[in-house]
Amino acid sequence: MTIYNLGSINADHFYAVPHLPGAGETLAATALTTGLGGKGANQSVAAAQAGAEVVHMGAVGRDGAWAVDRLASYGVQTQAIAETETPTGHAVICVDPAGENQIILYPGANHALGADQLAVLDAAGSGDWLILQNETNLQAEAAKRARGQGALVAYSAAPFAVDSVRAMMPHVDLLLLNAVEARQLSRALGVAVADLPVPQIVVTKGADGAEWIGPNRGETVSVPAQEVDAVDTTGAGDTFAGYMVAGLSQSMVPGDALRLAAAAAALKVTRAGTADAIPTRVEVDAFLK
Ligand code: ATP
Repeated sequence: MTIYNLGSINADHFYAVPHLPGAGETLAATALTTGLGGKGANQSVAAAQAGAEVVHMGAVGRDGAWAVDRLASYGVQTQAIAETETPTGHAVICVDPAGENQIILYPGANHALGADQLAVLDAAGSGDWLILQNETNLQAEAAKRARGQGALVAYSAAPFAVDSVRAMMPHVDLLLLNAVEARQLSRALGVAVADLPVPQIVVTKGADGAEWIGPNRGETVSVPAQEVDAVDTTGAGDTFAGYMVAGLSQSMVPGDALRLAAAAAALKVTRAGTADAIPTRVEVDAFLK
């Protein structure tokens, strides 16, 4: 089964700074590291590491060939990633000695996708999945096209925007929320999370684990988070999403997919970094034994 992912691809630039800059200040960074990021890219890497066949739909600028190569090096299929005149999306992340950060996010090419990027969905079928997040354009179009082919749609409601989630819910089979997003959505719509009109819902709760709510609303599964020494939680949610959908696409029952995803996310939390810190399936299986 194939996982199609319409998702953001970013260059994450981490600048080590003595303190976070103030208005009008010019500040010299003491170090720069650049890595692959973007929620979409992270989720594609996670699903590929989980052993799924993954086709990424997205866009980069002329400066983004290295990011596409990095995705390919993890086994992600990159034929539906366009090169646009708009520069690659990127994040400028200043990190002070206490680990506090300040982030500027430039969406760039991630908001310049064209309908051509969705053409690969014509090959989708029953048992395949489409993954979506809120960092690109064309989500609703992609969801309708995938469902028209008989595929299932998983949607991570991040970065959270209530209007986007409201518009997407009718086109989604699995809604992934973290605890804060679940509270915000429930409050904004005036309904309990379990009453949201989506067949399957997963709520991740950081160190408190995760819960799956099934189509028959009496049916729920909760898993605790594994106890680990947390080093960097960036990308934990994306690792969880990619592994969860990969597990479901490999016909795991939801409880098993949830356990697999929680173990992968817990291992990610023990490592600094985003896409490059997502564990392999072999590592996750060993951790679960
Ligand atoms: P992020 O934005 O940091 O990527 P998120 O807010 O989308 O994450 P979380 O609910 O914080 O999502 O984390 C996703 C999953 O990662 C959790 O359900 C849990 O399984 C795992 N996880 C997160 N933090 C920890 C932790 N400190 N220890 C163990 N597992 C964790």
